[in-house]
Amino acid sequence: MKPNEIDFDKLTFSFTQTRSMFVAKCNLGEEWESGELKPFENLNLSPAAVVLSYGQGLFEGMKAYRWDNGEIAMFRPEMNAKRAANGCTRLSMPEIPSSLFINGVKKVVRDNADYIPSTEQGALYVRPIIFGSGEGVGVAPSSEYSFIVYVSPVGPYFKGKLKPIKLVVTKDFHRAPLKGTGGVKAIGNYVPGMLPSSIAKSKGYAEVIYLDAAEEKYIEEVGAANFFAIIDNKLITPELTGSILPGITRDSVIHLAKTKLKLEIEERRISVDEALTADELFCAGTAAIIAPIGLISYEGKDYIFNDGNIGKITNELYNYLTGIQFGTSEDEFGWMAKI
Ligand SMILES: *Cc1c(COP(=O)(O)O)cnc(C)c1O
Repeated sequence: MKPNEIDFDKLTFSFTQTRSMFVAKCNLGEEWESGELKPFENLNLSPAAVVLSYGQGLFEGMKAYRWDNGEIAMFRPEMNAKRAANGCTRLSMPEIPSSLFINGVKKVVRDNADYIPSTEQGALYVRPIIFGSGEGVGVAPSSEYSFIVYVSPVGPYFKGKLKPIKLVVTKDFHRAPLKGTGGVKAIGNYVPGMLPSSIAKSKGYAEVIYLDAAEEKYIEEVGAANFFAIIDNKLITPELTGSILPGITRDSVIHLAKTKLKLEIEERRISVDEALTADELFCAGTAAIIAPIGLISYEGKDYIFNDGNIGKITNELYNYLTGIQFGTSEDEFGWMAKI
């Protein structure tokens, strides 16, 4: 679509094609090539591509914002570059250099700058992907890899006011075991969540809360967002054991809670029973930024938090974080990268 054909006031979280994408390749055992910007188009991929049979691949998710002063800025992109590089190692792919990752992202965002909505209308969602594009039949790493960055304008997760969401704890499905790939944005981690998620949605819940696969007692994550509880003025969030995705929003929320709100932080296991006693609950990730949790259904019973309203600390954290991201408050930690 051309930018002038898009109704920027009606954007949702769906895909809208833009002008261009960035493509770089790497042969196994060689260096990544420097890559180039190309018109957005379908890929030419062998049916025997390793990614199609074995899911050798990962993705990243980032947002580029158009500030009211006209500047374009992204939130801590070097963290996404680092996480993608770590993921490459776990998935037997050649490590992506941070400079290539950032260069690809910046080039696509600049070339598609006229697709970026205002911060009230949403953001430009940036989707880097890295996958085994070479042919193979045996279960072995691909001989060739592709790094692609494409973008899509998206609407805000919450239009207007933050609205607390309803979640259901599942004991029917697990997201990721210890020592698996839960700590990586591996493409294979996400399809298994689609069934639990659609069952939850059909019952009126926004998402599911996953428990640890070993004891089925401790909270792991909320769909594709990290989980937080406020109990007695402490911020408690599951520690990064390997099965939990190390969210960049998570890291930022912890930093803000510590430095701005002077909260005590506890990164540790948190059982469902303990979470149900919380003063406030929320989850955090790039898509929703911060989503307050108003209700949790657990073993057939509903538990309501803050009378179903947004909690004070949750709201403060949301305001601090979005103030920095939307360019309306000072970027005191140097988190924003001007594009
Ligand atoms: C991407 C993701 C998150 C959030 O990470 P951010 O870097 O904050 O966007 C949390 N959990 C899962 C499973 C994810 O895939």
